Amino acid sequence: MVFNSSIRVVDTRLMIDDLPVDAIARELETPLYLYSLKRIQENYRRLKAAFESVGARIHYSAKANSNAAILRTLVDEGAGIDAVSGGEIARALHAGAAAQDIVFAGVGKTAAEIASAVERGVGWFNVENELELQYINEAASSIGREKAQVALRFNPEVSANTHPHISTGHGGAKFGLTAGAIGDALEQSERFPCLSVCGIHVHIGSQLADSAATVQALAKTKQLIIPYPEIHTINLGGGFPVAYRHDQPIPSLENLVNRIAPHLHGYQVLLEPGRAIVADAGILVATVLYVKELAGKTFYIVDASMTELIRPALYGAQHEIVPLVQSNDERVLAQVVGPVCESTDVLAIDREMARLQVGDQVAIMTAGAYGMAMASNYNSRARPAEAVVAVAGDSWSLSRRRETIEDLLRLEA
Ligand SMILES: *Cc1c(COP(=O)(O)O)cnc(C)c1O
Repeated sequence: MVFNSSIRVVDTRLMIDDLPVDAIARELETPLYLYSLKRIQENYRRLKAAFESVGARIHYSAKANSNAAILRTLVDEGAGIDAVSGGEIARALHAGAAAQDIVFAGVGKTAAEIASAVERGVGWFNVENELELQYINEAASSIGREKAQVALRFNPEVSANTHPHISTGHGGAKFGLTAGAIGDALEQSERFPCLSVCGIHVHIGSQLADSAATVQALAKTKQLIIPYPEIHTINLGGGFPVAYRHDQPIPSLENLVNRIAPHLHGYQVLLEPGRAIVADAGILVATVLYVKELAGKTFYIVDASMTELIRPALYGAQHEIVPLVQSNDERVLAQVVGPVCESTDVLAIDREMARLQVGDQVAIMTAGAYGMAMASNYNSRARPAEAVVAVAGDSWSLSRRRETIEDLLRLEA
């Protein structure tokens, strides 16, 4: 079973690059996140190559996974960073990103976050509220910074044909500005002498399988900005889809580029992919704690839960689950659940999968994006360790140690 160029089952063992996952899990305990930096580098290079013809500059969306080793790998490759909070800006700088290669996005940036980003020299501000223009202008003016670059985020009122919880560009979504508000902002931009309002940003959602919606959003965007020649940059956001099953086809990037390229001629192009760079490079390793039969169903209770990976509970996401070492050929219909006291703490429902026993270890696949980044301490669970396999593929290291209960208690009086 081949998941991608870095993660596959060889004979009966799940491998990550040159290393058997069970050997790493034995040393680090579970639950455990494990990432292939090689696969992350490859995903970045593939996106970059696909968009080469439109000269796109890639800002990795740190919210998908802000692990320091991952950020460093991408910064070393030349990626900029798309940050959605002051915290992510700090992480990007910590990983070695140059401030001018950071895009600061987000629907609710605080005035303090904006002032700090202006002071640090963050390259782009993706603006979603008129009042933000005033905040950025004031902050820039107070330190004598000239021409902070602004991209206005357009809500094109296009349905993205993805899960409603990851759709952002429809009418009624909280994201972006209407065409009318963008027109007003551009007409009034001379009120903000310290800003250069020279970009438009459009991101209609995640896991976008249908390029028609992207093309439609881009066409609307073009129509909006043609009267404003000062707009020289189009930021298309992220949302490139990922296969969550090893045999699932995904739409070709080349096709998408061919369809959108005619609209991008003459513009500088920015992209903000997150999921497509990290999702399939990561797995969450768990151990079976108990097996029980209830109402005619087989339950595998594992030591990973919605606190490590909330996507199944939050979006009904389906992640494949594979034993680290397959010990038999038996298949069962199973429920894979975590220990958390919530009925939605289910990692797989009615899943046909390998028969497991107490103590067996499994990998929850394609968990590199929106996994650890969304992990919580609910039920006073310590967040898991993260380990990375080096780009060379033949060694691993601990990137973030497992939290301890002392870590959790330290902040309390
Ligand atoms: C979340 C987000 C992204 C990244 O989305 P992916 O689906 O992970 O590629 C990019 N841009 C914006 C504005 C976002 O909110």
